[in-house]
Amino acid sequence: MRLLYIEDDAMLRDSVSKGLQHEGYTVDAVGDGRSGLQAMTTHAYDLLLLDLGLPRIDGNAVLAALRQRGDTIPVLILTARDAIADCVRSLNAGADDYLVKPFDLQELAARVQALLRRRAGRADALVRHGALELNTTTHAVTLGGAGVALSAREFAVLQALLERPGAILSVPQLEEKIYGWGDEIGSNTVEVYIHGLRKKLGAGLIGNVRGVGYMMSPPQ
Ligand code: CA
Repeated sequence: MRLLYIEDDAMLRDSVSKGLQHEGYTVDAVGDGRSGLQAMTTHAYDLLLLDLGLPRIDGNAVLAALRQRGDTIPVLILTARDAIADCVRSLNAGADDYLVKPFDLQELAARVQALLRRRAGRADALVRHGALELNTTTHAVTLGGAGVALSAREFAVLQALLERPGAILSVPQLEEKIYGWGDEIGSNTVEVYIHGLRKKLGAGLIGNVRGVGYMMSPPQ
């Protein structure tokens, strides 16, 4: 899951980004509204974390611009206590939730999870595919009830495929989900993660459409 975080307080931006990366998210962070809107035209994000008081296009204007161009990305507002009135305005303008600073990282992570679940049309944290179960909160994966240890990136690839059952995801689409701006992308790495997943979960689990990409095989 790839998140964009727009926050002009550099210390907060760094610590929250690191915390969310630790939770297994790919996080891109920028310090002003214009850079944020730009980033969203070139990358596909699963969720936006948005500060309201921002230089070069403030948070509410970013939100308005997004919704105006038909972007339905879930938006979580992170704001100072004295900006509650602005926050209510944001909710009315299409934001999905808000948190008041200073916030607890665990609460932030839980709200991000809840928004992503709702986005995927699920009421709980479990994604099921035949005998395979993936817990998006704890990152536990079981196959026929037995635990399977995946690396963070194997998990990210599997989650991306499971979130879009029946869809074929191209290698660039999968890379979007697992690499942020600072990350170096080696050659064939998505293929390496797919190979690891097949080895651990069964060779037939993930299908390959030559020249197009990968998809989950129908559950057995
Ligand atoms: Ca600010």
